[in-house]
Amino acid sequence: YLVEKDGFAPWYDGFESFYVRRLKLRIDDCFARPIHGAPGRYIQCFDRERTNHDANYTYSGGSTECLNLSSYNYLGFAQSHGVCTDFSLDITENYGTSACSARNYVGTTDLHKKCEAVTADFVGKEDAIIVSQGYGTNASLFSSLVDSKCLVISDELNHASIRYGIRLSGAIVRVFKHNDIKALEKLIRDQIAQGQPKTHRPWKKIIIAVEGLYSMEGNMCNLPELVDLKDKYKCFLFVDEAHSIGALGPNGRGICDYFSVDPNRVDLLMGTFTKSFGATGGYIAADKHIIDRLRLNYLTNSYSESVPPPVLGQIISSLNVISGKISPGEGKERLERIAFNSRYLRLGLKRLGFIVYGADDSPVVPLLLFLPAKMPAVSRMLYSMKIAVVIVGYPATPLSSARVRLCLSSALTKEDLDYVLTKFSEIGDLIYLKFSSGIAGGS
Ligand code: PMP
Repeated sequence: YLVEKDGFAPWYDGFESFYVRRLKLRIDDCFARPIHGAPGRYIQCFDRERTNHDANYTYSGGSTECLNLSSYNYLGFAQSHGVCTDFSLDITENYGTSACSARNYVGTTDLHKKCEAVTADFVGKEDAIIVSQGYGTNASLFSSLVDSKCLVISDELNHASIRYGIRLSGAIVRVFKHNDIKALEKLIRDQIAQGQPKTHRPWKKIIIAVEGLYSMEGNMCNLPELVDLKDKYKCFLFVDEAHSIGALGPNGRGICDYFSVDPNRVDLLMGTFTKSFGATGGYIAADKHIIDRLRLNYLTNSYSESVPPPVLGQIISSLNVISGKISPGEGKERLERIAFNSRYLRLGLKRLGFIVYGADDSPVVPLLLFLPAKMPAVSRMLYSMKIAVVIVGYPATPLSSARVRLCLSSALTKEDLDYVLTKFSEIGDLIYLKFSSGIAGGS
């Protein structure tokens, strides 16, 4: 995509060209490298060399095993694991790897029904519907529920799939400042007031859309206040639990479990199976009448392949492990480990003087680099220390708050985290010296 014409790429303005070519292509962490095997406690990244100053790499065939703080493997289920793997293999033998049809045709197996029942039970809702992709779950949800006479009020940091889904629905969209309940309330009041002096408000439906745990910030939504607000103004509440389900709460049941809020106070609980469960796909859990409606008019149900049966095996068995229905004690151990690891690493980094965003219990730890120029150096150092992380910058973050994103996992041990802390301490000193002397020297 960076093919040069006459020495430069004419469709890139100066900033984009500088940012992408001089900076981003020099980031050398595990990002965008092919990997080999499962993204478990370790991740096997293929070694590469850049052939020129563009985005072309050659791969030598060699690889580096890194400690993995880059995958969303919160509960450690990405690694091959006895009960889950056995069940999935058994299903592969009996059902094959694909249902070869959409749900509304012949793509619904007994396992799909079972998976929906187990999911609904796990998150504490009456019913659930599953979709083969988390992104697709959000991207096609809103057009099934709202139209141009409806209003969706969306947190400014919502994931792209939510934003895309809302736009696609044709609903009117208003955005509120991240996690700012006062701003949200003011927006709702202003929008309802628009209908005056009519006797009823101008919107058929109002949906407030938020995430349970924000993966770039590591903070949670303020669920207790949100449910009160949505009751007060008779709105619907949608919560994306991609990063919170499995990873938060004493029972791993997500953001409601974490805040001890009755899940029935949230209208639409969305989640993905890609993070805590080592699988793929997404779900919407809600009252039965909402799910019944989605079964009919959810576009993915008619136009997209259903979740592959072996994946259902992984989802059902990992949910059952977490809730203690199979392999007693194991789920609890995994939950305790992710809770410990999250706090241990975060507090350790803070003690070393780093600025990290988010809540102490969050398994996502964003460590601030601020200057985008620090991204390439930090990414290379970490990779040479065999630590895989993801370095994130603009446009995923504001330009001046580039960061390292560390994802914790139950698969990591305390010794692993001590190693990470030691290495970060070294990097912190180096980067600080490097940048402070650069600035002081005016170079
Ligand atoms: N919602 C959120 C908040 C996400 O972070 C993601 C992906 N990281 C998705 C939805 C999409 O999920 P999937 O990767 O399972 O398609």
